[in-house]
Amino acid sequence: MHYTGTVWRPPYEASSLLLEVTAGCTHHNCKFCTLYDDIPFKFRMSPMEDIEADLKEAQGQLGLWKFNKVSRTFLVGANPFVLKASRLLEIADLVHQYFPHNKTIGCFSRITDITPKTDEELLKLKQAGYDGLTIGIETGDDEALAFMHKGYLSKDILTQCRRLDHAGISYHFFYLTSISGAGKGEKGAKATADVCNQLHPQIIGANMLTIYPNSELFQEIQNGNWQEETEIEKYKELRTLVENLEIPVWFAAGGASNAIPIQGTLPKDKKKVLSVLDEIIKSVDEDELRNYRKNLRHL
Ligand code: SF4
Repeated sequence: MHYTGTVWRPPYEASSLLLEVTAGCTHHNCKFCTLYDDIPFKFRMSPMEDIEADLKEAQGQLGLWKFNKVSRTFLVGANPFVLKASRLLEIADLVHQYFPHNKTIGCFSRITDITPKTDEELLKLKQAGYDGLTIGIETGDDEALAFMHKGYLSKDILTQCRRLDHAGISYHFFYLTSISGAGKGEKGAKATADVCNQLHPQIIGANMLTIYPNSELFQEIQNGNWQEETEIEKYKELRTLVENLEIPVWFAAGGASNAIPIQGTLPKDKKKVLSVLDEIIKSVDEDELRNYRKNLRHL
């Protein structure tokens, strides 16, 4: 298979067929991000021949029993949804040719990847199986979005996700706990809940900011331009987010960046999730959490 560098996928795509169609990130500019630093270029589209060769190889390796079970494909790369609709449709055709039982195709998408697609194209993509996009909105806090160079604001999240709603393409969000910085976490969490409450994400996955020395954010901290929250503040922020979410959504703070995994279906499990967070805030030691993060060599 043509995998380039570390293959990143959301935890809930564990059983999907992972197909590389792009490598790297077209944006490659978020101050905290070091995810694709292990590849020697910013962004590349995979040649269609490589994609087809990988599908052929996967088909051969999976054997007939598993071959019939492939119902979802996850396109690998930081933002494959940036590809033109015509190319995404071509890829969907190939997936269906090699895996006729495949029902849906997901991938990471930036908010700005949706913008240039027409409503008609989004509908065609939905018909071709594109569904369950994972979007790292990170926050609804405009000050943090601008400072971190995310390349869009909360109004863009609302506009573009409403367009996905209209096309019937479902989506999941990643939230980045601590992106607003020390003293601003609760404000950021409230702004994010406000954005999410106006939309229909099926999953909100929370990751905790972990700052590596090769990131631009690390330099900002050295220069005195930004300050990180304490670990306990991060849990208080997460609590504020959960408390203010009013939509039905599966909330999950899993993955390596969260020292203590927390998950629940909201609103049913809201009280339970809040009481777990209260217990962490009350009883877990800041130094212990800090040590966990310091020792996190890789996300
Ligand atoms: S956070 Fe996502 S969009 Fe930003 S640079 Fe990293 S991969 Fe690209």
